[in-house]
Parts: sequence; structure tokens; C-alpha cells
Amino acid sequence: MSSTSRIRLLPSDQPEMNQPITTPLPTKKASRWNSPYDTTGLQPLVSVFMTQPAYSRICVHSVSDLKNEVGGILVGQWCLDDNHEQFIVVEHALPARHTRQGSVYLTFTQDSLVDIHDQIDTNYKGQSIVGWYHTHPSMVIFLSHYDTWLHSNFFPEPWQVALVVEPVSATGGFFVRQKHGLLDPTRYFGFYELDGNYGRSMVYWTNLYQLEEEKGDASK
Ligand SMILES: [Zn+2]
Repeated sequence: MSSTSRIRLLPSDQPEMNQPITTPLPTKKASRWNSPYDTTGLQPLVSVFMTQPAYSRICVHSVSDLKNEVGGILVGQWCLDDNHEQFIVVEHALPARHTRQGSVYLTFTQDSLVDIHDQIDTNYKGQSIVGWYHTHPSMVIFLSHYDTWLHSNFFPEPWQVALVVEPVSATGGFFVRQKHGLLDPTRYFGFYELDGNYGRSMVYWTNLYQLEEEKGDASK
């Protein structure tokens, strides 16, 4: 029983694939959702694309407990387009099944991380942990001191991101390292919703707004 251990990302059996996949930015297939901070001159190192199944899984998990924090791992691909622009595609969200949760903190236990590595090896071969998510019930969207510590120690790749969701007011945002390497714990970014549903959006977070003009933009 390892119920007292804090997050511990075990080394995977396979060496991590630390090379991005070269592929075009999938902006044609996506709708952009901006946060209020997206237009304030910050320079995120990566853009975040997320599939609708991953988004809905995170939302269902987030509203499952409106008092305690819940969280999990974001699985997908780290990519590079021809213009050397980096982005990640969040393809799956894996709720951590064994967590210790209190009203103001969440820790992944060793069991949950073994479970996550097992799931990736079994079901998502070739994909990477592109980040993690957790909820802040009845709090604002930010990274606490502990969240920042956890992110830098266990998700140290520059392209790994942290998603915070507030399930009561239905808000959310991604914390992404900037090109100069710093992570701002108070200013979060929006994302690109990859349409899997004939262009119908699933995003309902009230703090993000859709950029209509980018939708269906055929110029790329
Ligand atoms: Zn937190």
C-alpha cells in the first residue's frame, strides 16, 4: 500500500520518445478557443489541440466531484510542423483511478501512475504523456505553489502542459511554458478543439471564447 506516497512518475520500460512527430498544424480541422490571456503578448512554446473525446472525458470526470479535486493524465502526441512550430495533440484523457484527494490538493499515488503507464503501454502505444489535468472546485484557474512544483518535477518536458478545470462555474485553461522557458502560474491559454463531430462544438467553458474567423479557414 503506497497511499502516503506523493506523485511518482515511474520510469517506463521503454525509453520515452523524445522526438516530435513532423506533421502540419491541424488548424483546418479545429476551432480555436481563446482565453482572456491569449492576446496579451505571451508566447507559449506549444499550441494545444484536443480531441472532443478527450475534452468530454475530462468534463465528465471534472463534474463527478464538486467538492474534492480530481485529476488525471493527458496522452497524445508532441508535434512539429514544417515551420518549426511546436504543438501537442491531446488525444486521450486518463482519469487517475487511485488518487488521494482533499479539497485543496490532489496527489497521484504510485498505484495510479503504475496504472497509467500500464494503460499507455497496452492501449496507446507510441503516444506520450503530454501533460496532466486536475480540478479546482470553487477556486479560480491558477497553478498553486504545489501544482507548479509538481509540474516542474514530474512534467519537465518544455512541451508538457497542465490543464486546470473549475467544474462549478465551468471554466478551464491550459498552463503552457513560454518560449523563454517560464511558466506563468496565473495566466492560462485556450486551445484548439479538434472537430470529431461535423463541426459541432462541445466546449462549454464560459471563460473561453471562440474565434469564428479561424473556423474553416482554408488559407493554410
Ligand atoms: Zn491545483
